[in-house]
Amino acid sequence: MTRDTLPHLVIIGGGFAGLWATRALASARVRITLVDRRNHHLFQPLLYQVATAGLSAPDIAAPLRHILGDQRNVEVRLGEVTSIDKQTRQITLADGSHLGYDTLMLCTGATHAYFGHDEWAADAPGLKTLDDAIALRRKLLLAFERAEAEPDPA
Ligand SMILES: Cc1cc2nc3c(=O)[nH]c(=O)nc-3n(C[C@H](O)[C@H](O)[C@H](O)COP(=O)(O)OP(=O)(O)OC[C@H]3O[C@@H](n4cnc5c(N)ncnc54)[C@H](O)[C@@H]3O)c2cc1C
Repeated sequence: MTRDTLPHLVIIGGGFAGLWATRALASARVRITLVDRRNHHLFQPLLYQVATAGLSAPDIAAPLRHILGDQRNVEVRLGEVTSIDKQTRQITLADGSHLGYDTLMLCTGATHAYFGHDEWAADAPGLKTLDDAIALRRKLLLAFERAEAEPDPA
């Protein structure tokens, strides 16, 4: 079987689920395309440390292509999946391009919820991405700076 005739597995999401599934299939006779809207794997449990300036962003994120560099049956594709057509077995990316698959694995994770109260978001921002962590860190550090410059001790 040549590479082009191998079954094509598309995995959407390079988080814990997608990345570990990809690695577990390193010896399988499949051609894998790992699609993620970010080109890095993010170790989410350490986002708190980035948000509180204990760690920097590169300490908890690693490029997917670097992690999978030795794995011959995988290609990494950067892109946001916007739709899936099960009839034609194709996914569509935000840039309008399409990608066909034989088997699709959805590993897109979850997001936080405000239980129907989206107005809470302003006071309780989410912490799921590096952008979220850096925004929170800026807010925390600026609060300390303002406290430092405050003449009224009370
Ligand atoms: C702050 C924080 C602390 C945590 N601490 C712990 C802990 O201490 N212990 C623990 O066990 N768990 C912890 N967790 C939970 C753990 O991180 C998650 O359970 C785990 O990351 C889920 O893995 P996943 O692969 O399902 O999803 P994710 O890791 O969220 O990965 C989903 C991937 O899919 C990609 N994606 C999503 N939608 C699309 C799309 N449309 N197109 C392309 N790509 C897409 C995303 O970019 C992402 O890379 C924590 C989570 C957070 C946020």
